[in-house]
Amino acid sequence: MTVSHALEADVLRRQDPELADVLLGERERQSSKLQLIAAENFTSPAVLAALGSPLANKYAEGYPGNRHHGGCEIVDVAERLAVERAKALFGAEHANVQAHSGSSAVLAAYAALLRPGDTVLALGLPYGGHLTHGSPANFSGRWFDFVGYGVDAESGLIDHEQVRTLARTRRPKAIVCGSIAYPRHIDYAFFREVADEAGAHLIADAAHPMGLVAGGVAPSPVPYADIVCATTDKVLRGPRGGMILCGGELAERVDRAVFPFTQGGAQMHTIAAKAVAFGEAATPAFAAYAHQVVANARALAAALAAEGLIVTTGGTDTHLIIADPAPLGVDGRTARGRLAAAGIVLDCCALPHDDGRGLRLGTAAVTTQGMGAREMRFVAGLLASVLRGGTETARAREDVRELAAAFPPYPR
Ligand SMILES: *Cc1c(COP(=O)(O)O)cnc(C)c1O
Repeated sequence: MTVSHALEADVLRRQDPELADVLLGERERQSSKLQLIAAENFTSPAVLAALGSPLANKYAEGYPGNRHHGGCEIVDVAERLAVERAKALFGAEHANVQAHSGSSAVLAAYAALLRPGDTVLALGLPYGGHLTHGSPANFSGRWFDFVGYGVDAESGLIDHEQVRTLARTRRPKAIVCGSIAYPRHIDYAFFREVADEAGAHLIADAAHPMGLVAGGVAPSPVPYADIVCATTDKVLRGPRGGMILCGGELAERVDRAVFPFTQGGAQMHTIAAKAVAFGEAATPAFAAYAHQVVANARALAAALAAEGLIVTTGGTDTHLIIADPAPLGVDGRTARGRLAAAGIVLDCCALPHDDGRGLRLGTAAVTTQGMGAREMRFVAGLLASVLRGGTETARAREDVRELAAAFPPYPR
């Protein structure tokens, strides 16, 4: 915890001890357990400072230089910085940094390119599609006609032939590539080719890999997709929030799809924090971080496979691993509960072509803490031992506490 955060916690403790306990309790939870949730990370103290700044007080509907509210001259600088840094970081002609979340970014992309009722081709939900890729519980499934493609039952890789066939037969208005559970690189050139053939727009929903793209260890969707949607958190390590990248010709449509079509005023404290994160992501230190994230995921995947778990696609190119613990005698849901009791925090997820549930793990947060391949092998051994019943929960919890204490996410 930094000095300024200690002071803020003191202010809160005096005024609202109940809520102060929540903040301190969550900080303790994050720093004493292992955070293997693939979507999570630890933002820097500078990002947290921007989030907790008086920019949170400002109303700023519209865009820099053209706001509906007065007094925006200073926050305009923050948004211009965020936009310029995002464009430079990803080599994009246009960036919109106002989307409140990844889902808001996708909603705006659809609003910019589609009409209700249009057909959209996306990775099916059982194979790792996001809610916004046609879930009946989401606006996307209600307002558009989604057709799902899948992954090959043997390899676990995206079934490119099926994508091509569905694009030819269903003539979608847009094709979405991107997933919440795909551990391999996506072939954006392939999706561009199929989209061109079908006369469809290509939307890359790259929330998960975008930090790896920034760090130069994953291919960029920017040269291929008409619109790229992403979050600024996850591997990118900024504040919870969304962004949209596109070419100059779609800039105005995308901006209007965000405000005024799907959102009101921009959240300037978050946009300032996005600018800080984009600045950090442009440094050699971040490239080294992204490289280590992937090295750690590969080490963790290999060690889990050696312990007998089934790792889908046989490994990973990214920060993300999908593993089936069934050979150890537990299903994903039971495994998640047992591991949580030992302080190992992760998600379970659908397994392609299987009724059971698997585990989804990611290395973005533990890598920010400074852990390396050695720690990943230790974690895999502990995880498997807990699932087999070889290590008692209390003993494992102590091991986790000790490991986490050696790698504090924030300086004490
Ligand atoms: C995380 C994610 C989202 C949604 O982001 P939220 O900020 O939770 O709305 C959308 N699509 C994909 C592919 C994601 O990984």
